[in-house]
Amino acid sequence: MPAHDFPQPAFMADEELRILSDSVGKFFDDHAPPERTAKWREDGMVERAFWTEAGQGGILGVSVPEVYGGGGGDFRHDLVIFEQAGRKDVSGFGASLHNGIIVPYIVAHGTEEQKHRWLPGLCNGELISAVCMSEPGVGSDLQNIRTTALRDGNGYRINGAKTFISSGQLGNLVVVVAKTDPTMGAKGVSLLVVETDKVEGFRRGRKLDKIGQDAADTSELFFDDVWVPTENLLGLDEGQGFRQLMTELPRERLVIAFQSMVEIEKALEITVAYVKERKAFGKTVFDFQNTQFKLADLKTEAMAAKTFVNYCVDQLLNGKLDTPTASMAKLLVTELQGKVVDQCLQFHGGYGYMNEYPIARMYRDARVSRIYGGANEIMRMLIARTL
Ligand SMILES: Cc1cc2nc3c(=O)[nH]c(=O)nc-3n(C[C@H](O)[C@H](O)[C@H](O)COP(=O)(O)OP(=O)(O)OC[C@H]3O[C@@H](n4cnc5c(N)ncnc54)[C@H](O)[C@@H]3O)c2cc1C
Repeated sequence: MPAHDFPQPAFMADEELRILSDSVGKFFDDHAPPERTAKWREDGMVERAFWTEAGQGGILGVSVPEVYGGGGGDFRHDLVIFEQAGRKDVSGFGASLHNGIIVPYIVAHGTEEQKHRWLPGLCNGELISAVCMSEPGVGSDLQNIRTTALRDGNGYRINGAKTFISSGQLGNLVVVVAKTDPTMGAKGVSLLVVETDKVEGFRRGRKLDKIGQDAADTSELFFDDVWVPTENLLGLDEGQGFRQLMTELPRERLVIAFQSMVEIEKALEITVAYVKERKAFGKTVFDFQNTQFKLADLKTEAMAAKTFVNYCVDQLLNGKLDTPTASMAKLLVTELQGKVVDQCLQFHGGYGYMNEYPIARMYRDARVSRIYGGANEIMRMLIARTL
């Protein structure tokens, strides 16, 4: 098909990006072969060593300016990495969170000193990032978080519990969303960077048992009187955390939409291949008109979704992507991902229910994309505000 023969948008038609794509694909072939990724799924986490290899292989911080140790590219270079990670089935490796969501916080909001302090390690794989927003009692309603970071001498003392944190076992540079002024609502929220190897009172809790994303070490984290110096407040001023998070939202939502789009294309591709092989009633499953019509519908919807995602990427590259539009992309593509993987699994019959078939895993993995990065009901709320 199928889906992967969608035309490339003009902004990706660049020889340098094609070369990067080939070399990243080769990196994943060499360093993340199926036996190794299967072990990560079994262990519930990616090997620490792989992050170092990824740093050495130029996979991390590809859009970070060279002066801070990065690749000097832009968002398109990150997309190349996310696409290859998806296509090569390197799930659980949090490159999209690291490259596409957390590292950009430091680039956009860090002081010059902070960028020089943290970005080289984030690019070479010494530092693995995590972002701690969600708490046991609060997810969507972020301004009601309970974690505090109160002034203590020339620093802050952090107290609180976080949950559902991606890279929670491996992360050693964690951005903590906390209240520096609990009386101020959203205006009292700040982002504190905790280098976990350098503090006392930081504790990793359970690696959570999930229905999908088997190789992702989603975990609980605890902060008991963790002290960090004032230089670890992201940016210069307290109370900027909510604004900092909000300004990065369009890219985060687009990253999720893009990843879901890659999964949709992959699901269609493997399903078309499967139904053209599988025989029933003396013909292939593809020969049934029902199969062709349903796949034709899905390809049509995928093409429309991809066109919208490309539009959003173009807007982002031009500094014009707003939060409602990015929320539409996340809503549209993640809902479609659920629909596509479900129908594609159906076409695999009983084999689709077997974990050894990629579509089974893709079905389990897909469910969370409608929940994390802001539940889709929150996306609808943001979109509805524009009506
Ligand atoms: C695998 C995984 C990885 C994650 N990684 C991270 C991470 O790295 N860092 C991090 O901070 N968090 C992470 N999360 C947490 C994720 O962002 C939250 O689960 C999500 O924001 C929803 O919050 P909640 O689970 O507390 O749900 P709640 O806020 O309790 O909401 C429950 C449901 O209520 C509905 N709802 C809530 N508010 C409204 C509303 N205003 N209007 C209508 N309906 C509403 C929605 O259907 C929602 O799904 C992760 C979660 C998972 C599952």
